[in-house]
Amino acid sequence: MDIKKIAKENVLACKPYKGGKPIDELKREMGLKNVIKIASNESPFLPPKNVLRALEQGLSSINRYPDGDCYYLRLALSKTLKVPGNMFTFGNGSDEILVLTLMGFLKKDEEVIIAEPTFLVYKIASLIQGAKLKFVPLKNYRYDLPSMAGAATDKTKIIFIANPDNPTGSYITEKELKDFLKKIPNSIIVVLDEAYREFVCAKDYPFKTVDMVRSYPIIVMRTFSKIYSLAGIRIGYAISDPDITDVLNRVREPFNVNNLAQIGATESLKDKKYVQKVRKFISEQKSYLYKELERLNIRFVQSQTNFILLIFDFQGKEVYDFLLKKGIIVRDMSGWGLENCIRITVGLQQENRLFIKYLEEFIKNR
Ligand code: PMP
Repeated sequence: MDIKKIAKENVLACKPYKGGKPIDELKREMGLKNVIKIASNESPFLPPKNVLRALEQGLSSINRYPDGDCYYLRLALSKTLKVPGNMFTFGNGSDEILVLTLMGFLKKDEEVIIAEPTFLVYKIASLIQGAKLKFVPLKNYRYDLPSMAGAATDKTKIIFIANPDNPTGSYITEKELKDFLKKIPNSIIVVLDEAYREFVCAKDYPFKTVDMVRSYPIIVMRTFSKIYSLAGIRIGYAISDPDITDVLNRVREPFNVNNLAQIGATESLKDKKYVQKVRKFISEQKSYLYKELERLNIRFVQSQTNFILLIFDFQGKEVYDFLLKKGIIVRDMSGWGLENCIRITVGLQQENRLFIKYLEEFIKNR
């Protein structure tokens, strides 16, 4: 069999997404008992008790297909965000929404504009859907929106924007976003990926993007994977104009969001204090990490998220390999073209301390 003859060329040309190394794999490989994973921007906490209890009860219905319309979640989210139910699309993680957007809107020979580097799934999903890609380099680890607007042509269909961005943790201000949107024709879909919005402390961040979806063809994308601690059961959603939402819902599979994900997400919305608690914790731990990184003379990008990009004068892989042997999984950034960087997720207090201890050991002995 010659796979090159039978598979699609654009799929074979695409490098598959590689997640952070799983904890169990490292334990097996290195014979380690304790392993810390601060590589995939997950929450270090389990969801709150009410959510865990609801999930346990939800097990009694896993013989049934899920509700294809996410009825209760739609209702709860509609109430919480004051957005009509017909403006939501739910996905198996917000990753799925990216794919639905491409499936629903991208026509033959049309282009997608993305920053370089940014969240890798934009590039992978676009290539798989046959898009022509245009890359616009970051400027000083930030999105360069004027250049992204300048790159648009009559062939452009979608522009992906992560705000805050992954892997840099930097953000776009409300003014920058508004200026950008004014320059973009309304035949272009702008995907505003707000996976980390709940961690943002910057006052000039565009918190009210939901109000913009009626005036511009914007798809606002959010997730329960990060601050809500539900990465393992996969649920994200989009908010968009009802006509855009209708297209997204035409291309999605009928039962794309499983029972437990719907239950977990609906229950999560009841506990507002949990989100505030996690947000405060992450912010305090980030301050600790910033202070320690400054003490060790290590450069980093100020982050509005639950992760930090560290910049070295040498290959980040050296740090990654050293920490791996100590049982700490961080993210080596060479896959993003950031060879001199690693990305760390803010973990529990003792995890962050241990990370700093070994990082210091590495720097002193290098
Ligand atoms: N967008 C960004 C910027 C992300 O970093 C991630 C997760 N790593 C996602 C979207 C996908 O999140 P989900 O778990 O909802 O698919």
